Amino acid sequence: SNAIILANPPVTTIQPDTFKLESGRELAALADGEILIRMEYFSNDPAQRGWIQANSDAARAYVKPVRQGDIVRAMGIAVVLDSKSTKWKTGDKVVGMFGWFDVGVVNEAAVTSAAIELPGMPTATLSVLGMVSVTAYQGIFEILKVEKEHVVVISGAAGAVGSLAIQLAKHVIGAKRVIGIAGGPEKCAWVVNHLGADACIDYKAGNLEADLKEALKGDFCDRYFDNVGGDVLNTMFRNVTRHGKIGVCGAISVYNGAKADLSSFTQVISNRIQIEGFIVLDMVPKWAQAVQDLAKWIQEGKIKTDEAEQVVDAQLKDVPEVWQRLFRGENRGKLITKLVE
Ligand code: NDP
Repeated sequence: SNAIILANPPVTTIQPDTFKLESGRELAALADGEILIRMEYFSNDPAQRGWIQANSDAARAYVKPVRQGDIVRAMGIAVVLDSKSTKWKTGDKVVGMFGWFDVGVVNEAAVTSAAIELPGMPTATLSVLGMVSVTAYQGIFEILKVEKEHVVVISGAAGAVGSLAIQLAKHVIGAKRVIGIAGGPEKCAWVVNHLGADACIDYKAGNLEADLKEALKGDFCDRYFDNVGGDVLNTMFRNVTRHGKIGVCGAISVYNGAKADLSSFTQVISNRIQIEGFIVLDMVPKWAQAVQDLAKWIQEGKIKTDEAEQVVDAQLKDVPEVWQRLFRGENRGKLITKLVE
């Protein structure tokens, strides 16, 4: 077996020696409840950066931290090669919390479900019917409780979570105005033309606040779905309406240790802004319902599956490099790695 090990847990940015490929690892014989799997696809998630953070406080983490010498944890789709589980048999395709390896032994508890395929989309359980889409669902319905009369702003709008959040707010709820924030004119054009947002602001153009005010057309924002944190969040503190709400889904702009200016935080007080962080794991009891709803909206054409994913072929040694594209904004929609020899 071959695996990518966390060689040096990062403090800030990923370094050339952060990860190490270990070849020829011995696999233990299967114990009861375990399965032997071959990874086919990896989900690329910004959250993995948090899991591998050096010296993180396990007592404050929502999942067990990955420590030095551990295989880097990753979600993915795998095929079962051998099984001592009563739940999964040889040949099953499973989705779960696995790791950056080609072949490995995992406990059946690591599996979250069977892989669901949509026509021409073997990886739908990593994208439109997967964790990221349930996250968007949680943020829009459970946390922000978006309604028709709301003006909604969503950052990371061209990404996996953001692209779903835009479509849920616009096409499922029919919110008054749905405004995306994304990096670059091409992504913004896609958010408007393909996803159907009313406007999308290129935060890299350097006029975020002026462009935002123009897109808001004199309103303030009722609901802000935050995927990026940092300077964009600081700008939003000044543009969320009195008694409005911010749902904090992610803060990718600071995952690699960048320092951000959050000096407008006092607006939270003066404008009685509500802020709620959330983690998709809390959706477990509602997961099946969320996936059923998402599937229905896909069928009704309210959520698009074309261009929802970007699948990149990579050998195991290149898996960390593909993942880092998330932090350079090189993906549109859900970034998935297909493991090739
Ligand atoms: P995306 O598909 O959105 O990919 C990441 C995107 O982040 C990039 O494409 C890039 O888009 C943007 N980005 C990167 N660096 C910066 C930066 N410095 N400032 C602003 N934007 C940046 O990833 P996901 O959809 O998987 O995740 C989106 C967010 O949701 C993340 O913060 C993630 O941690 C969070 N998340 C939270 C979950 C939860 O349970 N709370 C579950 C899943 C995800 P651009 O080109 O526009 O800059």
